[in-house]
Amino acid sequence: MVDKDADIVAAQSEGQFTKAYDYDLIVIGAGSGGVRAGRIAAGYGARVAVIEGDRPGGTCVIRGCVPKKLLVYGASFAGEAEDAAGFGWQIEGLSHSWSDLIAAKDKETARLEGVYRTLLKNAGADLIEGWGHLKGPHEVEVGDTIYTAKRILIAVGGQPSTPDVPGLAEYAITSNEALDLHKRPDHIVIYGSGYIALEFAGIFRAFGSKVDLIYRADLPLRGFDMDVREHIAEALRDRGINLISGRIIAEVKKTAEGHVVTLDDGSVLSPDEVMAATGRAPNINGLGLEAAAIETNARGAIKVDEWSQTSAASVFAVGDVTDRINLTPVAIAEGHAFADTIYGDMPRAVNYDAVPSAVFSQPNIASVGLSQEQAEEVYGRVQIFESRFRAMKNTLSGRPEKTYMKLIVDADTQKILGVHMVGPDAAEIMQGMAIAVKMGARKSDFDAVIGIHPSAAEEFVTMRTPRA
Ligand code: NDP
Repeated sequence: MVDKDADIVAAQSEGQFTKAYDYDLIVIGAGSGGVRAGRIAAGYGARVAVIEGDRPGGTCVIRGCVPKKLLVYGASFAGEAEDAAGFGWQIEGLSHSWSDLIAAKDKETARLEGVYRTLLKNAGADLIEGWGHLKGPHEVEVGDTIYTAKRILIAVGGQPSTPDVPGLAEYAITSNEALDLHKRPDHIVIYGSGYIALEFAGIFRAFGSKVDLIYRADLPLRGFDMDVREHIAEALRDRGINLISGRIIAEVKKTAEGHVVTLDDGSVLSPDEVMAATGRAPNINGLGLEAAAIETNARGAIKVDEWSQTSAASVFAVGDVTDRINLTPVAIAEGHAFADTIYGDMPRAVNYDAVPSAVFSQPNIASVGLSQEQAEEVYGRVQIFESRFRAMKNTLSGRPEKTYMKLIVDADTQKILGVHMVGPDAAEIMQGMAIAVKMGARKSDFDAVIGIHPSAAEEFVTMRTPRA
């Protein structure tokens, strides 16, 4: 049995930095979590190497959050252009070049990759390019070389996972390829209704593609607040996305013209592209976890304790490979806490309460805290305050879309348990709400705040009557 606490304490006392190994710390994976851990550890004086087989920056910077958000920005101008007419603008000859957008996006991700390389260099960490394989609890092989370290941090992230449907893995693109398409599809079928599915449905639709969103549940975004799910389903339909609920894909075939997608009810779609957005899985294939006796759970995620320590005392893991909350800022927080704990004499574990998140669909969705369903289960009696309104901008633009905002309050203590929004700038607004929720705000704290008028956000402090 590994004495983990003793190892943490030993790490904070003398003997921390030792020359017996090539490095004090080897990080496998130069994504958000790994780079943060590596450079903070190096800042405390640790000799650090970061191993990366692909491009430094990882999923978020190279093929996730950042390029996706650039495409979301690009897509948002389509709606702005439509809305502008109501304000007297006459925009003629509007056209869009997909290849110019992809080229601009590629330039920006290349710049950010350079920033990540510089961050590591300036911190004094070595970047070792190649795929790392564990050879033992202190050994990592890259190519023909074996590097040793007192500790190893695994921060290899996740990768798209597709269900076992004939032709799906073979012919469908995933979010990896969707960001690099040379040509925008005229018609795309997107499978799934989670974060990635909704974000890409919004992107392709805004640029003019016909989008069929196929999912097995009744509503998109399983696990989100039910009112939010109902509201976003309507908003997506209003934006022209074809929602096909309660269906699964039975087969995908490729033809000379495109693809043939057969659903479980026998109906057939013929899109140019099929995209699987059916979840992500920990990236553990070929990592050699068995060489260090590192345990995984049923989903293939590396099991860790609150200090991100694995079943092998010298090996730690952060980010999506541990499948805790799979968000970039969480991976960064885990990497930072690991480095502070082990190398900075500041033991601290990440607090996973009230982690806000946003879906960058069009319109945006953002939440912090519990859904109504979760709150009722945990707290019993809750009060719901909500507002559904047509944003001022939409009065002149003529867009029928409504914004939805919801507060979930513990009926006994008046503590705010959950905040949810579907509407423009929801992500920007929710970050501030998250501070209030994290501080344990009560409804009376919200009531005591003067609104900023006219804004959508002011609704959060002017809701007075709970839903009956
Ligand atoms: P999600 O888990 O969000 O959604 C997966 C979707 O695939 C669900 O609709 C799910 O359906 C469906 N699905 C899963 N398995 C099957 C199956 N066997 N057959 C049919 N449908 C299936 O995953 P994503 O891929 O969208 O994103 C992965 C994660 O990445 C997110 O959970 C999030 O943590 C992170 N992310 C965060 C973003 C952000 O913060 N803005 C953006 C993108 C990703 P069902 O609901 O029925 O289970």
